[in-house]
Amino acid sequence: MNDSREFIVRWEGEELKAHRGETFLDLAERAGWSRDVLMVEVDGVTRELRSPVPGPCEIKPLGFESSAAREALRHSASHVLAQAVKRLYPDAELGIGPAIEDGFYYDFRVRHSFEPEDLEKIEKEMGKIVEEDLPITRHEVSRQEAFDIFSKRREPLKLEILEEIPAGEPVSIYKQGEFTDLCAGPHTPSTGYIRAFKLTSVAGAYWRGDEKRDMLQRIYGTAFLTREELDQYLKRQEEIKQRDHRKLGKELGIFSIQEEGGPGLVYWHPKGGVIRQAIEDFWREEHRRRGYDIVYTPHIAKLDLWKISGHLDWYRENMYSPIVVEGAEYLLKPMNCPFHILMYKGSLRSYRDLPLRWAELGTVYRYERSGVLHGMLRVRGFTQDDAHIFCRPDQLEDELVGVLDLAQFMLKTFGYEEYDCMLSVRDPNDKKKYIGEDSVWNQAEAALEAALTRKGLPYARDEGEAKFYGPAIDIKIRDVFGRGWQGPTIQVDFNLPERFDLTYIGEDGKPHRPVMIHRTVLGAMERFVGGLIEHYGGAFPVWLAPVQVKVIPVTEGQEDYAAEVVKTLKAEGIRAEGFFGPEKVGYKIRQSQLEKIPYMLVVGPREKESGTVSVRHRSRGDLGPQPLPEFSQKVKEQISTKSLD
Ligand SMILES: [Zn+2]
Ligand SMILES: [Zn+2]
Repeated sequence: MNDSREFIVRWEGEELKAHRGETFLDLAERAGWSRDVLMVEVDGVTRELRSPVPGPCEIKPLGFESSAAREALRHSASHVLAQAVKRLYPDAELGIGPAIEDGFYYDFRVRHSFEPEDLEKIEKEMGKIVEEDLPITRHEVSRQEAFDIFSKRREPLKLEILEEIPAGEPVSIYKQGEFTDLCAGPHTPSTGYIRAFKLTSVAGAYWRGDEKRDMLQRIYGTAFLTREELDQYLKRQEEIKQRDHRKLGKELGIFSIQEEGGPGLVYWHPKGGVIRQAIEDFWREEHRRRGYDIVYTPHIAKLDLWKISGHLDWYRENMYSPIVVEGAEYLLKPMNCPFHILMYKGSLRSYRDLPLRWAELGTVYRYERSGVLHGMLRVRGFTQDDAHIFCRPDQLEDELVGVLDLAQFMLKTFGYEEYDCMLSVRDPNDKKKYIGEDSVWNQAEAALEAALTRKGLPYARDEGEAKFYGPAIDIKIRDVFGRGWQGPTIQVDFNLPERFDLTYIGEDGKPHRPVMIHRTVLGAMERFVGGLIEHYGGAFPVWLAPVQVKVIPVTEGQEDYAAEVVKTLKAEGIRAEGFFGPEKVGYKIRQSQLEKIPYMLVVGPREKESGTVSVRHRSRGDLGPQPLPEFSQKVKEQISTKSLD
């Protein structure tokens, strides 16, 4: 007899009998699936395991590799965290607790101030909750019911969130044991699924990100499917911490921030100066080779200029207060563009003069709140590797291809081979946010797209991400850890030429409007070098290393020879230093190793006798004795080819 309440579902190539009213979890348990399955996908829609099987269907199990399932696991871990906190600190009020990249957090308003020891205690309680394997269940409730539940539980922050759920949208709560949360889900079926987790830190966070609201305590953590994956992640985090550019920047004498001088302002120490100069020299040479002219412009300009440029309307909150000079107000420049424009306007331009490519290492100042400043990465004054290209509309696409080509070449030179390109275009539903005409925007967006296609660069189209003055390409570079860093930006601008009434005389003898491209390749010298410190872990390739060779005499008897070696290398344009003094060779090598110097040349009596050097590489170790000219030739080659070795 055919039972109408029964139907067939497919699950990984197998057929399973299902009953109406059953959940995916029932099926999973009946078929003995492991708890590596966290969610399922049915007809392209992800569902949690506790949701009912809708009818005959094909079910795709989702494990940790699925981002939806991963998020469900971590979001469930955040609920376990909140439950543990409520058990230990009953007065704690719940904020929000989402999954984030690599983990999760939960915000609490609580009298007790969390210390690292508390995290251990909370982790232990979380372990108990996981062991209890409490079912995590979803309940749809009415607005009133939800209000009653969270009023009774004294969760004012939850009530605030509840009020913001638009009328008509379902209100759902999730329960596990004595714990209840206002939450849209999805979650794992029980707390027992969270087998490998770790609380990582605690930080202050304003409720709703609003400085005028209460400061809550945010506990961060992470969760993985297995202990091994978690351990691997924690190890990597430790490596990242060791490579922090603020730590290495200090240890290696690259830069500092002087609180006495003001926050967010970078001081480049001598070693950092060498690195920066090497980058700038390369930058200038490459720009000249590609038809750019190098210009320099002032740091301040009259307020009226910023009025014409529109910055006063659009960028005021990032600009500093005026400086008054002989009754006129001047503003520090947050951007170089208006200056290049004034120079363009200074002469009559013909179509034959275009394109003009003007590059400047321009130092700009932008106001950032002190709370967001971060080493070299988020600062208040920085030097942009800026350029503006003025061209005819028919030249736009070729110019964009040229910029992309330069960007690719430079990034590759620094060892960045992986990046993501984003094409930022207008939000088609909110065109009022942007300056400029429709047709002009469409033209610019099309040119950017065509240039990306011609360079064979895959890209994501981001609607609504464009700045107010034009569409752009933003390239995010990936470092050795796969982390994204802001890289080149290329912006088409039809707006400033309009505002400043820029023209060129066309073939027809009549004035025409040029197109302007703003672009940076490295972004800011500060941020770029900060990123390089972390990317290389402080071990800069030879061409960038502040000290390329350290010469270490074995005893005092070879100091004269060592000094001669240093002199010879310096004459060859190699940055060499001697390491003299009574310390032992082993100590000097270790010290040079800590300074991440690419080559150490150890010279003892034998080397002095034969005019050779014993070469030691910071990562490859002992390379044996070499005649000095041979060694210096090799290093010079590494420098000139900008070898990443
Ligand atoms: Zn939740
Ligand atoms: Zn610009």
